[in-house]
Parts: sequence; structure tokens; C-alpha cells
Amino acid sequence: MSTAPVPASTTRYPGGCLQPVLLRGRVDHIDGATGELLHRYTTAHELGGVLLIACKTRRASQCPPCAEVYRADTYQLIRAGLSGGKGIPDTVATHPCVFTTLTAPSFGPVHLHREKDGRILRCRPRRHSRTCPHGRRMSCATRHSRDDILLGEPLCPDCYNYTGSVLFNACAPELWRRFAITLRRALARQAGLTNKALAAQVRVSYAKVAEYQRRGVVHFHAIIRLDGPAGPTTAPPSWATLALLTAAIDQAARTVHLDIPAAPHLPARTLTWGRELDTRPITTTGKLTDNKVAAYVAKYATKAAECTGTLDRRVTPADQLDGLPIREHARRLIAECLRLSKLPGLADLRLAAWAHMLGFRGHFSTKSRTYSITLGALRADRAAYQREQAIAAGLMPDLAADSTLVLAQWHFAGRGLPLTTAPGLVNPPPGDQRDGSHREGVGDVA
Ligand SMILES: [Zn+2]
Ligand SMILES: [Zn+2]
Ligand SMILES: [Zn+2]
Repeated sequence: MSTAPVPASTTRYPGGCLQPVLLRGRVDHIDGATGELLHRYTTAHELGGVLLIACKTRRASQCPPCAEVYRADTYQLIRAGLSGGKGIPDTVATHPCVFTTLTAPSFGPVHLHREKDGRILRCRPRRHSRTCPHGRRMSCATRHSRDDILLGEPLCPDCYNYTGSVLFNACAPELWRRFAITLRRALARQAGLTNKALAAQVRVSYAKVAEYQRRGVVHFHAIIRLDGPAGPTTAPPSWATLALLTAAIDQAARTVHLDIPAAPHLPARTLTWGRELDTRPITTTGKLTDNKVAAYVAKYATKAAECTGTLDRRVTPADQLDGLPIREHARRLIAECLRLSKLPGLADLRLAAWAHMLGFRGHFSTKSRTYSITLGALRADRAAYQREQAIAAGLMPDLAADSTLVLAQWHFAGRGLPLTTAPGLVNPPPGDQRDGSHREGVGDVA
């Protein structure tokens, strides 16, 4: 995570955003019946003549204050699905619910941090270590600390399966989709029901987050919960137990696969989840509590692939791969994305566009429709609260929504903090203000 200091002068901006969008324009409130102008807001009276809109990124490496808002919202959303609140009944806490981690398989040995009872273990001790065809020893007796830069680096980069790693990332969202379908079928089979009969009695709800491992592959952490047919407001049938859910997850994770057909310079292969599967119940007390899980998922929702030492932006054709300031392992993964992107049959994976993400182009946090409330609902609540506050403070007119027309006219006026208020932070040069990208309509940007 970036630790760029937040200039004190930014605290008055929306959420302290470091890279706000600047807008110039006005909003008129007009009486729908008489056409009378009731109220006008114009940015002419704002500092620098512009209104600042928070960038609202989820990524902590790009804008820490906005990512913090995203993290807090995600925490509330995840927690409501575990213990209730925000309109979700607290009886949801009694539904069978687990936290499961679906890992990627091995693509070759990498340096590891291992711990047991608070002691750091040796990385890969082997009494009779073999040597790879490139003459490198396939063992490592080092006790790597948590922040060792060697973590995730292959013992032999020339043996490492870069093709498999990149294809796994690219296909992980599809593998998850198949897992979710197979899980429902496995539940039906264990309960002795048809798929249709299962759907009439049980709904499987989930929320998941993708996390990059240091070796450059994603794995998924998922909260999986069994509800009654209408979601969290209805109780699941008594036969839908924690044990049944755990067994069905295990079965689904071990059977799901995805066949990639052969292409020129690329043999056919079958992608599966890794052998390591960790499924644990979530409870209100004990080791894995609702608060812990919500904090964990929310933390990973604000991250991308930073820990792998890759690029924080897309790779462009102008980039010289050799000259990019990235880890050697990440460079090879990116190079493999670019190589595979040119092969016929793999165009759908869009590996060149997602090379900086080492092939993964999925969403970082997703949830099923009935898991909990939505981020949109949380944001709408906040906007309504801010509007009430603004009206109470006399900053906005309190007009009847059904009889008032709101006419907004906005012009894009740049990106970043205005130079007049935050010296040192970059504004686009006058020629790059793209003032012509002009948005007009009925609405409100608050
Ligand atoms: Zn921001
Ligand atoms: Zn090692
Ligand atoms: Zn080797």
C-alpha cells in the first residue's frame, strides 16, 4: 500500500480524495409548474471555480482516502451478511456459513514464509535435494521473514510454468462460475433432491474476494452461506447443515475443471483448483469470527496485484518490458501474457490488456444477489444523509422532489487538486483540460 502523506489542505475535499475530478458548471432548480428559477448552484463561487468530485477508487495504491471509504463500506456489507444489520435480520447468523479458500495449483516451487507455533521454518528443506535441468538446487534452507523480497520467487525461473500461471489467472473467474454451479448440484445430490427441488428449498449465497499470492496467482476467499428460498430473511431447512455444506464445497472444489484446447505452440491442458482447500465455519465467538472475516475481506477488496511487484497500470505498446521497474518474476509473467495474447484461440482472454494483472481480468470482490445489501444502497444512504445535512445548513434548497425540475450542466475541467490550494500536486496543463467533454442533463452529481 502506498503511504503517500495526505496534505493537510486536502481535508476539506470530498473524503480527502487525492485525485478528484474537477467540474465546472451549474445546477438550476426550476418550478415544474411555473418555470420559475427557484435556486441556482454554480461552481463560480467555489475555490478555483471548480467543484471537486472524489475519484471513488477502491485501490489503496491509487488514492488511500477513497479506498478507505470503499473498505469501510465493504466491511459493513460483508458483516451485515454474517451477523445482520443494515436491513438484514440478525437471524442470518444462525444460517450455516463458512469461510473457504480456493487456491491455485503449483506451477513450480517458490520461496515461502512458513511458520509453526510462532517459529519461522526453513523454506524448502530437502535432505537429498535434486538439481533441475538448469543446474539449480530444488531446495532452500533459509528461514524467510514475512517481508523477504525472495518470497514468491521461483527456485528456478527456467523450470517455472509461466504459461500455466497466466492461464490460471485468466480462467479463474470461469473456474469460480463452474464451482458455484457444481456446488449447488453437489448439495442437491447430498440431500437426495433434484436441482429444481433444491432451489425451491435452499439458496446458496456468497461473497468472495480475490487475493494475489506473492508468486503472482490469484486465489479466492469466499463466504458461502445457506439460506431459505427467499435469501437471508428465510431460514434454511433443518437438513441444510454446516457439515453438508462443507462436504459439498469439498466435492465441488475437487471435481471442477476447465479444458483449454491445444493451439499452435500451446499443448492442451486442464485447469483445476489447487489441492489445498481450507473451509472453516464462521461464528460469532471463537477463532474465525464475523468481525475478523469482514475485516479480512474488506482489506483485500482495496488491493490489486501490488504484492507481486508488477506494474500499477496497463502495459502499452510503447513500453520496453526490459526497462520497466518491476520484479523479474513479474516481468516473465507479463512477457508470457503478451506472448499468449498473440496465439489464435486465446483472444477472448484479452491477455495483452490484462498483462499488468498477470492475466487476471475478473472483479476483485463479488457477491451473489442475495448475500447482503449492496454497495450502491450504502452509497445512496450516505448521499441522502449528506443532502439532509446540506439542507439543514442552508447550502441546498429544500424543494419538493416531485414538482421541481433539476437542470444540471457540467464541464470536465481536469483531474487532481487545484494548484491554488495544494501546491506540488499536479493539474493537467491548460491545453489538456478537455473542456469540450461536456455533459448536460437532468440530474445531480452530489
Ligand atoms: Zn480519490
Ligand atoms: Zn527459500
Ligand atoms: Zn530449472
